Amino acid sequence: MSDLADLTLAAAAGGLRSGDLSAVELLEAVHRRAAMTEANLHAYLTLDREGAARAAVGADAGFKRGADLGPLQGIPVALKDNMVTRGLETTCSSKILAGYLPPYDGTATTRLRAGGAVILGKTNLDEFAMGSSTENSAYGTSRNPWDPDRVPGGSSGGSAAAVAAGSAMVAFGSDTGGSIRQPAALCGIVGMKPTYGLVSRYGLIAFASSLDQIGPLARSVEDAVAALEVVGGYDPADSTSYPGAVPDYRSGLESGVSGLRIGVVTELNGAGIEPAVQAAVNRTLDQLENAGATIVQLSLPSVEYALSAYYLIAPAECSANLARFDGVRYGLRRLGENVEEMMSNTRAEGFGPEVTRRILLGTYALSAGYYDAFYGQAQRVRTLIIRDFQAAYEQADVLVSPTSPTTAFPIGARTDDPLSMYMSDVCTIPSNLSGDPAISVPVGLDDAGLPIGFQVMAPALGEPVMFRVAAEVERLAAFGVRAPLASSEVG
Ligand code: GLN
Repeated sequence: MSDLADLTLAAAAGGLRSGDLSAVELLEAVHRRAAMTEANLHAYLTLDREGAARAAVGADAGFKRGADLGPLQGIPVALKDNMVTRGLETTCSSKILAGYLPPYDGTATTRLRAGGAVILGKTNLDEFAMGSSTENSAYGTSRNPWDPDRVPGGSSGGSAAAVAAGSAMVAFGSDTGGSIRQPAALCGIVGMKPTYGLVSRYGLIAFASSLDQIGPLARSVEDAVAALEVVGGYDPADSTSYPGAVPDYRSGLESGVSGLRIGVVTELNGAGIEPAVQAAVNRTLDQLENAGATIVQLSLPSVEYALSAYYLIAPAECSANLARFDGVRYGLRRLGENVEEMMSNTRAEGFGPEVTRRILLGTYALSAGYYDAFYGQAQRVRTLIIRDFQAAYEQADVLVSPTSPTTAFPIGARTDDPLSMYMSDVCTIPSNLSGDPAISVPVGLDDAGLPIGFQVMAPALGEPVMFRVAAEVERLAAFGVRAPLASSEVG
């Protein structure tokens, strides 16, 4: 490998331990890559060069002392800018949080620091994680390293672009309706949403609390496992944190799929999926069958209503969560004649159009007289979806589909049509509503040379079997291509 910035986390971790490379060298390589790609990609909102340099020196000192803090020690990691970081600007890509310096680290960040990770900075996202392209960022769109005229997906688009371009070795994002998996798919990398409750949400700026999960974006399934190992596990600071022991994700990675039942979800395959995407998914299914898996066709009838239910539940929760941004406590403040006017001025100027749309939608769906017809109905649909999944997991160990119905779309193509933007997440939203884990693995390129993601879904706490299948998908697909913008020729 000619450039250290292109190493997988696993390879870099090996080199750091054997003494073949240092965290400082690794960081320099990643910074060089960022200097080359950022003007084009705008993956980052903030690069914390000093903090990262200090952490790299500290990681190297640790290795010299023989201290092993785990798989991320000395690894350059990027964080989505909705994860609060002490003293490091955290904006959620919103004007309302411009200049906000959090007084604390979220739990995932605390665990990353304790694990010796080198935190590079904060990546771009759709404002408050609402969107599928990063075009809703108040600070400009990120671009796709495979084709800078296209979106990297979203909302964790900056994280995905950085990992794909080599300006981060691994990154974290949040996934409320697909925001880790869809950008991972569009950028040709691995992205994983853990079981709801597996990773603490303490210090993740809330969008829709019953759906939000933090998870890794990485260059391989093994790298995603390593990243999840560091941040996962019980946290008393998050009341929805899963109190049980964290399962062993690694032991199955080499086990293959022989004897496993893989369910193809009828409603998430075929209709509405771009032919090239479906063809790549079908090819992978054939390979899995040849590798010894049993492929079963399964129906999740209520999943047809998942998008509609999500676009009531998520806005309803967002309208409650975003009420805290009122000009009193955080970020922007625009004064008026009285407090109410101050709040109104602040919010009118601070929130972008998509966030405003969601707050209005959610407030309406929760209002007296409509609550039961909208929010209540959506919750009932959610229950039906959960039951559909439970029934399907009686017949299959994992379920599969494309991650995104299309490959990366051109910048601007969906900005005037919220519904077409919302459709980007039709395959990912069901696992958020059910709270189950799901992962996207790159399996091929379409005719335009854009990456295609294959989604593996598993029942709650089914990460071990999900990773096992994902690792086999990765081997079979032998994707191994890097984004053109990651190669040193292009800058
Ligand atoms: N694109 C979806 C939305 O806009 C999902 C976002 C997310 O997962 N954060 O709500």
